[in-house]
Amino acid sequence: MKWNKDSLKELEKAPEFVRDMAKKSVESHAKKQGRKSVSLKDVKEVFDEYMGVLETEGVGGKRPTHIAIVVCERTSEACPATACLLSFQGRKVKFKEYDSDARLVGFFSCGGCPGRRISRLLNNLKKSVKIDVVHLGSCMVREEYQPPCPNRESIIKMIQSKGIKVVEGTHH
Ligand code: SF4
Repeated sequence: MKWNKDSLKELEKAPEFVRDMAKKSVESHAKKQGRKSVSLKDVKEVFDEYMGVLETEGVGGKRPTHIAIVVCERTSEACPATACLLSFQGRKVKFKEYDSDARLVGFFSCGGCPGRRISRLLNNLKKSVKIDVVHLGSCMVREEYQPPCPNRESIIKMIQSKGIKVVEGTHH
């Protein structure tokens, strides 16, 4: 598939971590219309659709609260995170305070001690959406599963330094 200079320049506006995916979506969009080259219009149409998903407004035009959940890498080897996700969806336990518009915009494991990839993934997320709150999975804070995360304090400080609120726990 051929790309002209303007289309490539427009593609570069997509955050780096989704650029390959965006490129494939644009090419597929052009292909569906029977073309072998990508126009600037194709890129804009696909981006508008993508950004529309990210910027959906809640009731009354108010932006919904954006939440990300971070879980322990060690636990994630065995845990499919069902309780974390159901708690959010049902607005239970640590998610009770959120209204029905609140959205889960990120879910990832810490990447291993000492929380190796949390900062990087939050920075990547912030390029696409504003993050209001990060919940640390109950696996990081409760003793029922394993010893609580020994790096918790520094992880919390690092997240707060990005202007993001931290709540300890998800389903307990
Ligand atoms: S940093 Fe904490 S949450 Fe991450 S793997 Fe280590 S103990 Fe688990």
